[in-house]
Amino acid sequence: MANRHTSITLLLFLAAAGCGADSPDTSKLNGDETAVDIPEDQIIRTANPYARGYTDSDFPRIQELAPGVYSYEQLRSAGDEKFTTVSMFVVTETSVLVADGQGSIEETQKMIDYIAMVTDKPIKDVVVASDHGDHTAGNSAFPREARFWAHPTSASALERMAQNGSALPLATNLVADREVLQLGGREIHIQFLGRAHTGGDLVVYLPKEKIMFMSEAYLHRVFPAMRSAFPSEWVEMIEVAQAMDVDMYVPGHGFVDHPSILKDELEVFQGAIRAVIEEAQRWHEEGFDLQDAIAGATFGSLETWSLRESQGDRALQQVFAEIDGTLPEAN
Ligand SMILES: [Zn+2]
Repeated sequence: MANRHTSITLLLFLAAAGCGADSPDTSKLNGDETAVDIPEDQIIRTANPYARGYTDSDFPRIQELAPGVYSYEQLRSAGDEKFTTVSMFVVTETSVLVADGQGSIEETQKMIDYIAMVTDKPIKDVVVASDHGDHTAGNSAFPREARFWAHPTSASALERMAQNGSALPLATNLVADREVLQLGGREIHIQFLGRAHTGGDLVVYLPKEKIMFMSEAYLHRVFPAMRSAFPSEWVEMIEVAQAMDVDMYVPGHGFVDHPSILKDELEVFQGAIRAVIEEAQRWHEEGFDLQDAIAGATFGSLETWSLRESQGDRALQQVFAEIDGTLPEAN
């Protein structure tokens, strides 16, 4: 049987080199897009774009995952490191739904400009799958009349950000469990599968296409960032996602690779969370305090992952808090 995964067309609308990334280059949407279909076994499993041979001008990277379903990967800087922040958008017969924005008004506007080259349908729904700033800070670029979907926990987080003077649109529609949308001939589920990276983690699930956008609950080869995470529940949340009928799990950071790699890597990522938990537990059980653990902890193969340096200490702190029963209910 032919592997159906390899038959999924991965159209990459690569930003043309040297074309100044500020304004979208329409030529790439007019038939001369570069189809990059690197064989699975030649893909280097890393979130580091340079290690994969990309340059800054190769982004944003847009792929059509299924008819009318697109992933949008844009480079972002975190300290010295660069990796991608991923949004997904679904074009229906009547409107567009966007899952997660980008990290600034300028970047979200750029994505909106690309969406406008794919379709003339208006953006009517925005899902706040992660409430963190690198996915929401540009949300005021979206049409004012759009519905903003969020879990109650994330809705509160957005309100706190607004009180601190941000111009973020607040959630207009809450999803505590599951919302099934019928939009222009498509069925789209917005779902809460458990607390993970933010506590208000939502996924966008397309049951017919078997695609699930997991946002930051899935960091592809990016160290498990835990500043507002629920470490053990995160492991369980991924298990819930793995048990669902999904062919393609789309991460919130890192590369959108072939579906079979992404399925594999979700397992690898769950193992990474477990490894961080186990390392923290080991130090805690031996009676060491957090500072000792931070000084001495090692994470094996995770040592080379993006954000290891900046997120390792914070992750240990979060697991210590979980063990001690002092994790805040809302971050
Ligand atoms: Zn985050």
